[in-house]
Amino acid sequence: MNTGLHMDFVPLFSGSSGNSTYVRMEGTSLLVDAGLSGTRVIKELQKLQVDPSTLSGILVTHEHSDHVSGVGILSRRYGLKVYATQGTWAGMAGKVGRIEACNRRVIRPGDDFFIGDMCLTPFSIPHDAAEPVGYTFYCRGVKTAIATDLGHLNNGWLDALAGSALVLLEANHDVEMLKAGRYPYELKRRILGMNGHLSNEDAGRAVIELRKQGVGRIILGHLSHENNFPELAYQTVSQVLEEAGHAADMLDVAQRDGLTGIYHLKSEDQA
Ligand SMILES: [Zn+2]
Ligand SMILES: [Zn+2]
Repeated sequence: MNTGLHMDFVPLFSGSSGNSTYVRMEGTSLLVDAGLSGTRVIKELQKLQVDPSTLSGILVTHEHSDHVSGVGILSRRYGLKVYATQGTWAGMAGKVGRIEACNRRVIRPGDDFFIGDMCLTPFSIPHDAAEPVGYTFYCRGVKTAIATDLGHLNNGWLDALAGSALVLLEANHDVEMLKAGRYPYELKRRILGMNGHLSNEDAGRAVIELRKQGVGRIILGHLSHENNFPELAYQTVSQVLEEAGHAADMLDVAQRDGLTGIYHLKSEDQA
């Protein structure tokens, strides 16, 4: 992998059944979430020739199992530090097993922190978990972000993403597919609720706002297996954009089951 003054951003897998993203710049490399088995995460990292023991840590967004399934095993096996809010630590206590005290880091929404040269900002997201966050990554003038598991649009998270060269943004479901589908009423209500998940149309509205805030490329992710498919997410978001007079030339869709691609984001420092 290119190790120059680039930020590498690699969705390892992204969907309602498991999420993990690899972010690297210079000597700092991170996983955000590890929501399939440890073995699956390791397999994807091997494709990038990344030795898991060289990771600087794992950032956790929230305690739902599609984000934390592999966190405990990876931390124990490779001695990795785990970063999460107080609420997320409490929420994932029974799910990730024992994590050594020396590897536990508590972060707070809105409070920046550094890992190596990379500045991380956790920001609050509207989702039905204890204290869920998205993250922005900033190093040498390059900013990227992860914002999934979003119940609705609000200025808090939209503003946090301003100026990002790349955002992994949730486009969870098609509303009609969800309504007509086989999920029980309560689950449908949860997903459609203020603290559930972002529909394709809402993702489209979010992209319009993010474009105004100088965001570059957008990867649509966290797609539902039951209530969405990649072409539909892409089409719906493109349509919302085009109806509002915007080009849809900066959209990608993340793979649910494997590497989406390696995004190299150029540093401003680079000649
Ligand atoms: Zn969730
Ligand atoms: Zn999720």
